[in-house]
Formats: sequence, C-alpha cells, structure tokens
Amino acid sequence: MRYARCIHRGASVRLADIDPSEHCGLSREEAADISRTLGDQLADLADLLFAAGKHGLLVVIQGRDTAGKDGIIRRLLGYVNAQSCRVVPFKVPTEPELQHDFLWRVHARVPGRGEIALFNRSHYEDVLVVRVHDLVPKAVWERRYDHINAFEDLLLDSDTIIVKLMLHISKDEQEERLLEREREIEKSWKLNIGDWKEREFWDAYTEAYEEVFRRCSTKRAPWFVIPSNHKWFRDVAALECIVSALEPHGAEWLEFLSDMGQTRRRELEAFRASLKHA
Ligand code: ADP
Repeated sequence: MRYARCIHRGASVRLADIDPSEHCGLSREEAADISRTLGDQLADLADLLFAAGKHGLLVVIQGRDTAGKDGIIRRLLGYVNAQSCRVVPFKVPTEPELQHDFLWRVHARVPGRGEIALFNRSHYEDVLVVRVHDLVPKAVWERRYDHINAFEDLLLDSDTIIVKLMLHISKDEQEERLLEREREIEKSWKLNIGDWKEREFWDAYTEAYEEVFRRCSTKRAPWFVIPSNHKWFRDVAALECIVSALEPHGAEWLEFLSDMGQTRRRELEAFRASLKHA
C-alpha cells in the first residue's frame, strides 16, 4: 500500500502522527493520472465480481463531518456497475432500529455475493458518536468492539471482502470547508449547526477513532487511514485500497467465468447437434 496508512492488528496509532495533508510527493496531475488507471482497474474488477457472483464487497467509509464521504462515494460510483452497487447511509437510528441490537440494521444491508455496498457511516458510529455522547452506558459500548469483530468475521467467512476507510482531515481543513459552505451559495444547503457543535468534540472523536483502530483493525479487515485534506490524494489512496483488496481475487473470478463460458458453449453445441439429428 503506497498511499493509505494500513493499521496493523493491535497497533496503537495516534491520528496526530498521520499527516492529513500527506500526498506522497504526487502532484494533483500525477494523482489524477493514477486515479484514472486505478479507476479502470476497479471497473474491470467490479464487473468480474458481479459476473462471477462469488464474493461481495463492503466498503465502510467513516470520517468526521466534511471529510469527504459523499465525495469519495460519488467518485467510486463512476467506476462501478449501478446494477451491482448500492450506497447505504447510516443516520441516527429510528425507533424500530433502536428496539433491536445495534447490528440488526447493518446486517440487513450488507452485500450479497456479486454485490457491492458502500456504507456512508456504519456500525462504527455505535462506538464513535455513541461513545462520544454517552448515548448508551460505557458497559454497553465497551462490548461492541468484540461484537463488531465477530460480525465482520462472519461476513468474511461468508465471502465478503471488507475495506474500511477512515477519511482523515485536519481541524483547520474542516473549518475551511464549513466556512466555504457559508460563502458559496450552491453549497449552503449543506449548512448544519450540528457540524459546528460536533467540532467541539474533536478530541473525543480522535480518541474514539484511535480505539477503533486498536481494537477493530484485524488481519483480514484492517482499517486504512486516508489522508484527505487534498481531495485528489484522498481519491487515489481510497481507490488503491479497494483495488488492492479486489485484485487477489481477479484471476479466480476470471477462471470461473471462462470455465462457465466453456460449459455454456458445450451446452449450446450439444443443443444444436440435437436439432440436426431430430
Ligand atoms: P451525514 O452523514 O452526511 O453527516 P447526516 O447529517 O444526516 O448525514 O448525519 C447523520 C448523523 O447520524 C450523524 O451525526 C451520525 O453521527 C448519526 N448517526 C449515525 N449512526 C448513529 C448511531 N448508531 N447512533 C447515533 N447517531 C448516529
């Protein structure tokens, strides 16, 4: 992984040690070129995933307000087949959702084999916003890290490829993006007092994210921190993570499809032969 920071299992990571303005020496133009190549690769791999129907892909996208969750989703949608992909936003749970365990609403939206789901926020909100605002007692959210790991293990054992991306921006960059929404009339529909209120909890969120990385970055489903102050670098780093997760399966999907093609061809030949002898 060249551009994103992969969090290794059990590692203690401080977000302050990862520069949100990192761009690995790439210029905007170079990043755009690489993004195009990665995007083409993603498009091919997503087609194979859909056609082979062997695995699902779950992309979990987390980040503070204005980090670019919508932006990266828009970008990814440009490369994947709309038939096989859905975007799932996770908002404040509804009453019925609150009557169930916290994973109930999540499990219902995970991708099946051949499908892609892009989670805009996710089950991790249940150990982020919930923890920061004491929405349930500590004894309850404390146990959720293990529940999350067990849940993701179940998905992985059921042929789901999981990519977890945290879009990392600086506090200054967030302020700039929030102010921009006030300055630019076409962005002002996004204005939300809640975003300014949440900024007051910046450090509590930092701690909550660091705990997520320490406890829920696993060998099979690690977290990736994506430096996101530069949107063009965010795109290249996120694309790289997803392509790297899919690539190892590409040959298997292709082989499966070519075997299927041969079988279908034989069936067709046998059918035509049967017509001749009829
Ligand atoms: P956006 O994701 O674009 O910010 P909203 O402005 O509708 O969309 O915000 C969704 C809100 O829902 C966020 O403040 C988020 O923290 C909150 N949320 C998501 N999941 C949960 C949860 N499990 N418990 C409480 N709040 C949640």
